[in-house]
Amino acid sequence: MTHAVTLDTIRAAAERIAGEVARTPLVRSAALSERAGAPVFLKLETRQTTGSFKLRGATNAVLSLPPEARKVGIAAASTGNHGRGLAHAAARQGLRCVVCMSALVPENKVAAIRALGAEIRIVGRSQDDAQEEVDRLVAQEGFTAIPPFDHADVISGQGTIGLEIVADLPEVAQVVVPLSGGGLFGGIAAAVKGLRPQARMVGVSMARGPAMRDSLAAGRPVAVAELPTLADSLGGGIGLDNRHTFALARGLLDGAVLLTEAEIAAAIDHAYAAEQEIVEGGGAVGIGALLAGKLTVSGPTVLVLSGRNIDMALHRKIVSGAWEETPCPA
Ligand SMILES: *Cc1c(COP(=O)(O)O)cnc(C)c1O
Repeated sequence: MTHAVTLDTIRAAAERIAGEVARTPLVRSAALSERAGAPVFLKLETRQTTGSFKLRGATNAVLSLPPEARKVGIAAASTGNHGRGLAHAAARQGLRCVVCMSALVPENKVAAIRALGAEIRIVGRSQDDAQEEVDRLVAQEGFTAIPPFDHADVISGQGTIGLEIVADLPEVAQVVVPLSGGGLFGGIAAAVKGLRPQARMVGVSMARGPAMRDSLAAGRPVAVAELPTLADSLGGGIGLDNRHTFALARGLLDGAVLLTEAEIAAAIDHAYAAEQEIVEGGGAVGIGALLAGKLTVSGPTVLVLSGRNIDMALHRKIVSGAWEETPCPA
């Protein structure tokens, strides 16, 4: 099978985005290495500009736009890490970026996106209403929508993390990646396996709505219920008309781990107390998998810490021991 994402497209992305994104550190964790009985490293995308790896894919996609598309601009409905990455990338390139959101989005999120240089359009009362406005901007005004994961340029941009991991740790035996839509996993796996086929690639999701795991089990993309979770950046489905990331995960995933909410909280707490890192729930799941004894570690292992954008009041609750699990609405 041929993929639109290859070692070559990832290398081209690395060249394209160099200077626009941070080359993040890979650091050894003494506490986790001792616990695992093998060297464990953390890839700190928490230190990426805009606070998550999403800037890599967004920047690569923006820089790959044809000149006609650059003239009009890009549109998105995401107010999370993808929206932040896109807004920042567009501002850097002097492109218009319109972020559509519903009237229910909290003011601090609106302000954060505006501060990154995006135009805000408040429409309707749901995410679907916001997406409808994006579709209209695309159809009627010629804007380009850049999706958060199922896009070859986005995946190739995320894959640059894999190139950096192998460059910094050529003997890497295992890479553990937060897994939602699979752009992050697919890109890193294509890069790492392209350079080091014997390396194991593990994806970690929350038990509350693991869309890719359920889709792989079903043999096709399936919808999942969206439930509240500490790993909010891992929420949502993979798209029933998935074009890239399902096939990449099916071909390159060696193991899938699911975590409870308490295991995710323990990971956020460990990151802070033992690694001095502020990590959001979705970014901490690799640590959670190791702490929960759900990972086999037999050689140099890298845990990708994918982002840091957590609500700080929630973070304080978790690291002070005051967090309690909210029951899952059945
Ligand atoms: C988007 C995101 C993920 C998941 O990436 P996918 O490409 O959707 O699998 C993981 N961690 C953080 C912090 C994210 O923002």
